[in-house]
Amino acid sequence: MSVAPEPPIVNGATRLYGIIGDPIAQVGSPRLYTERFRSAGRNAILVPFHVLPDRFEETVRGLKAVANLDGLVITVPYKARILPFVDRLMPMGEKVGAINVMRRDGDGKWTGDMFDGRGLVRAVRKAGYELEGRRVMLIGAGGVGSAIAVALAEAGAASIAIADVDPARARALAERVARAFPACPATVATPTTDGHDMIVNASPVGMAAGDGLPAPLGPLDPSTLAFDVVVKVEPTPFLRHARSFGCPTFGGYAMMETQVDEAVAFLDGQP
Ligand code: NAD
Repeated sequence: MSVAPEPPIVNGATRLYGIIGDPIAQVGSPRLYTERFRSAGRNAILVPFHVLPDRFEETVRGLKAVANLDGLVITVPYKARILPFVDRLMPMGEKVGAINVMRRDGDGKWTGDMFDGRGLVRAVRKAGYELEGRRVMLIGAGGVGSAIAVALAEAGAASIAIADVDPARARALAERVARAFPACPATVATPTTDGHDMIVNASPVGMAAGDGLPAPLGPLDPSTLAFDVVVKVEPTPFLRHARSFGCPTFGGYAMMETQVDEAVAFLDGQP
């Protein structure tokens, strides 16, 4: 049996992808994406670019001008600021008002889409749980929280209660979800487990040593799904709390891994 030769690690024909953010040293995408490219037999790598806020526009213009650079992953704090740099926006990106991946199409135009929230949806479904009819408590209405709220509404959640230490953010997100999915009531709330069968921590609380719960959460019913977006720590204090009541738990890495599958397909030009 003949085995296909491994693509070279890098040579003159290597196609380039980048991730842009500030800071950048913490990102896991270069390894995750490059491994996917290699296992698909593609001569391509994804490299980190540290883009400073006061050089953002000129850097992105420069990267788009590089003829062998086919796509960008976008991370904090640029997921909304990048929007003027795409020619076409996929529906999820439009509903969230932010994107985390953009690709150069065959006609030279750039298309952007948002995969953060779909990663969560896919991870939960892959584990065999349904999202249709879930009454969700979402803690944290920033970049990732926004993508999650829209993706959960699209996946058929019955309602989404949104809490943020900045109430204006929670309000803006509730209005955004209500506009895009009128059938899924989205409200501003204080964090509580009562009346919810899915709790999502989309705040950074849990990342730093010494962090506790994102909010004083009470007992949980064992059927409640607990999802924490924090990647660096697993299990987080929130997930430990949920496990102590026997709840199914999901960490940030599961969401990141599953969204990479979809994002790579998108970068390959799939609709
Ligand atoms: P962000 O700063 O845009 O949003 C965080 C939000 O949480 C803010 O609105 C803030 O006000 C709110 N918040 C902070 N403390 C809170 C608390 N105690 N209660 C309620 N709200 C609170 O950040 P982001 O880009 O949304 O990132 C959030 C987290 O998601 C980070 O930990 C990041 O590492 C993680 N992340 C995970 C993935 C993944 O795929 N798993 C991807 C990107 C980011």
